[in-house]
Amino acid sequence: MTFSVLKCPNCGEEYNINRNKYTCDKCGNILDVYHYDMEYKTTSMKGVWKYKNMVHPEIPENKIVTRGEGDTYLYRSDRISEYTGINNIYMKHEGENPTGSFKDRGMTVAISEAMRLQFHKTLCASTGNTSAAAASYSALAGIESYVMIPGKNVSANKLFQAISYGANIVDIEGDFDNAMSGVKTAIERTKDFYVLNSLNPWRIEGQKTIIYEIMEKLKPDFISFPAGNLGNTSAFGKALMDLKALGVIDYVPKLIAIQAEGAAPFYEYIHDNRDHITPVKAETIATAIKIGNPVNYKKAKRSIEFTHGIVEKVSDNQIIEAKRAIDRAGIGCEPASAASIAGVLKLRQSGEIDRGDTVASILTGHLLKDVSMMPEYKPLKISDIF
Ligand SMILES: *Cc1c(COP(=O)(O)O)cnc(C)c1O
Ligand SMILES: [Zn+2]
Repeated sequence: MTFSVLKCPNCGEEYNINRNKYTCDKCGNILDVYHYDMEYKTTSMKGVWKYKNMVHPEIPENKIVTRGEGDTYLYRSDRISEYTGINNIYMKHEGENPTGSFKDRGMTVAISEAMRLQFHKTLCASTGNTSAAAASYSALAGIESYVMIPGKNVSANKLFQAISYGANIVDIEGDFDNAMSGVKTAIERTKDFYVLNSLNPWRIEGQKTIIYEIMEKLKPDFISFPAGNLGNTSAFGKALMDLKALGVIDYVPKLIAIQAEGAAPFYEYIHDNRDHITPVKAETIATAIKIGNPVNYKKAKRSIEFTHGIVEKVSDNQIIEAKRAIDRAGIGCEPASAASIAGVLKLRQSGEIDRGDTVASILTGHLLKDVSMMPEYKPLKISDIF
């Protein structure tokens, strides 16, 4: 019988999953979920919960709060193959989840866990998409949500979602890193909140399913994605460790984590081989990855090491150009998502990726998530078109 514990990736200390604290008492590291006697067995549920056995084996099905998230479409596009110079490039569109980003995959698991632990309130800091997902899933579960949002640094569309779903909005002066400090202050004062930030290891468990789905359909050499707070970087490596340990795959694709040049502390940390991450003041048009002090950097490093992966960075102009290509291909995504294609193009040009390699790129959010950058267009008159 599979059972789960919270385990410190640093010192190995284990804790019961019923405790609502996700840092190690001994060394302060962020805990992982660890499943004993895990089996690769799928259920008849759809999307994320198809993989219940590798995500949250013990949760009773009547506690699961789901909107059918996951099972997203995998696109191929001649235009994107031409743009990147890679024939076999696929795009997994996480923007096609219920609230428009991959955050729904982690949120269904975290909110289900909040229900199992009988919480009545949730709390998170967010660059926007986490708060949209938190607000929706909390409302669906019938519990109250509080979101700390750096108002001036979040796309209006994402704020619109959180307000519409009925979240209590705490407006934070500053950026995401200030909002994260606000969450830390709140949880030092009260134990009422179930915290939904990506230090919550159950969100990572849900996000692993992106990789399970890809590896069922493809044999990619590389998997690329934008990297901000490094939740996905952590989750994807963990998912590949699962599949390898269970004998489901016999090789490990390389992860490619792409940061924005103005928000690249993980890039510096890996390339300079530092002991600790050095926080930066983040600056990029891609607000979903505008994060200067990512919490998950140690778990993320483990993922890069395990997969012999690559950490790359791209400029805002490269992001904007890649976004235009994805949008014009009829697929579309939000700015941060386009970093995954911009980074692949850069690595193709530098020769680290070959034309014949198979690449899976994650488009993390929907085109309509951020309409602040209206593309230039020339309005026509009726008489112009005939
Ligand atoms: C949250 C988010 C990211 C960053 O993901 P991390 O797991 O924090 O690195 C990238 N793109 C979009 C659209 C997001 O919402
Ligand atoms: Zn520890």
